[in-house]
Amino acid sequence: MARKCFISFKTEDLAFKKAIQSHDELDIVDKSLDEPIESDNEEYIMRKIREDYLSDSTVTIHLIGKYSAESLGKEEQRYIKRELQASLYHGVGNTQNGILGVVLPQMTDKIYQGSITCTNCGSVHTLIAINDYTVVKEFSYNYYIPNAKCAWSESDRFCVLVKWDDFIKDPNSYIEMAFQKRCEPIAEKTKVRP
Ligand SMILES: [Zn+2]
Repeated sequence: MARKCFISFKTEDLAFKKAIQSHDELDIVDKSLDEPIESDNEEYIMRKIREDYLSDSTVTIHLIGKYSAESLGKEEQRYIKRELQASLYHGVGNTQNGILGVVLPQMTDKIYQGSITCTNCGSVHTLIAINDYTVVKEFSYNYYIPNAKCAWSESDRFCVLVKWDDFIKDPNSYIEMAFQKRCEPIAEKTKVRP
């Protein structure tokens, strides 16, 4: 059974969204937040985005391209930030969505930077640049959830990360990984507005 997915993306990356949508094994909600929800009530905003845009999706596929960084400004990123916040939101009658970050080809080298031998523990850690220069905080915080260690294992992360080429060959297995995170212990440590 295909999990229902919502896609959070920047308009510059529309071609990738369409490629996912045309995949016939996937169940994609075809909506995007494109106008602000006017209210002072955060609960209301979250609920409204979930009802009107995320619908009954359980996984949010977040496309990470050249224009997805926090450093480009909160105003520029207002819609993807809201989409991710509403995805992470645990409300009455809804469980948060799993978050699957898909690194688009133009960002692969910037994000996957090889590995280093850690001066702290002596083991080898991979260098994955998930930070304000690549993604918004809603993604980076829930990928590198603060812990007291020098590295993150798969179970220390809520967001799942995959390269586009790997994702498009076998999307459902990555979607399933993100879906399963919702009931793992790390789901208790996520933050909606980091
Ligand atoms: Zn280490």
